[in-house]
Amino acid sequence: MGTFENENVIEIANVLYVKTPKSLLNLLWKLKHLGYKIQSQRLSKYRITPVKKYKMSGYPLWHAIQPTTLKGKCLECGALIDERDIYVHGRRCEVCGKVIYQEIVDGSPVSFLFHSGSSNEYFKYGGLSFTAKLWDEKNGWLYLYPQPQEFRRPTLVGEEAQRYLQENSKLWESAEIDSQKMIRVKYRKRYKREENTIDMYETGHIYRKATIVKLWHGREFFEYEALPVQESISLVEAWHWAPLPVSSTLHERILHAVNRSSEDRPGQGIAPSFSKKDWREIAKFIRHFTTLNADAFDNAWPNFRRSNRGGAEDLYRFCQSLPPIELPSPSILRLFEGLAPFIPEISFEELTKEIWRNINKNN
Ligand SMILES: [Zn+2]
Repeated sequence: MGTFENENVIEIANVLYVKTPKSLLNLLWKLKHLGYKIQSQRLSKYRITPVKKYKMSGYPLWHAIQPTTLKGKCLECGALIDERDIYVHGRRCEVCGKVIYQEIVDGSPVSFLFHSGSSNEYFKYGGLSFTAKLWDEKNGWLYLYPQPQEFRRPTLVGEEAQRYLQENSKLWESAEIDSQKMIRVKYRKRYKREENTIDMYETGHIYRKATIVKLWHGREFFEYEALPVQESISLVEAWHWAPLPVSSTLHERILHAVNRSSEDRPGQGIAPSFSKKDWREIAKFIRHFTTLNADAFDNAWPNFRRSNRGGAEDLYRFCQSLPPIELPSPSILRLFEGLAPFIPEISFEELTKEIWRNINKNN
């Protein structure tokens, strides 16, 4: 049983489904006590989707989040610094003053094309590659050792590279650094195309003495490292709709609870097959939040097909207690479109009032 589970709080796929308003209030008090910040879609001024839609679609109306802050960290002196622009060429530590990030250093491979051509040139040529000497980003010059290189494929080589350089002779010039012959091109910032004469495709050998860390109660974690406690928790008010009766879309509603759908979602390729964990989560949802026979489902699912489509069809047949037929279109999916992601934090006083209002309204 999960940390917050009890007879009225059921965890499915990392979401807590709460069965009664009173147990929601208890849970929110507990989360608050454990240092979580509570956010509510109910009270969001920026919410576009009506609360009713959230309630009935089983979408989380509450979020509990452990407060963390991101900071930059200088790996030269160990100081915590501003995390903004931490990975920008020439960035210095505001404490020790050392350069802690350089996108291009002496010896970095770079690959680019001049602005003169059409965008098709990239597909035609790949790029023109050099070894960089120095990027003087203040004055907007990138200095290169003059011999084109071949460390990237496709890339212009030999006579082709020389011809391309000749064709674009107005967009680069000869230069010298410490009596060494160089060429230089206008390059101020990667994303300020109008200030460059090249489109940079690739740079290597980045110099990095900086990182981003996450602070939690004064303790330092890597940016994506897990905290010793769950960092964010979503809560669903299940009493508005549970238990779900049999309907033509019940299987979609069940699949949604484990972040799946009977159809492969556009742009996401073929959905992965069902794991035992998926079926166990589904079984839990069926037991607590539908009118289906949960014991019968526990016996049935080990024989279900594992593929996404096959498994979804087996689930559908179970939900309908029907012989094999074709699945209806998953119109329920439309219910989940357009849910606003931005949620402000609310005061605990507002929160308590809101819950009590709900209990009194008994909705
Ligand atoms: Zn430093």
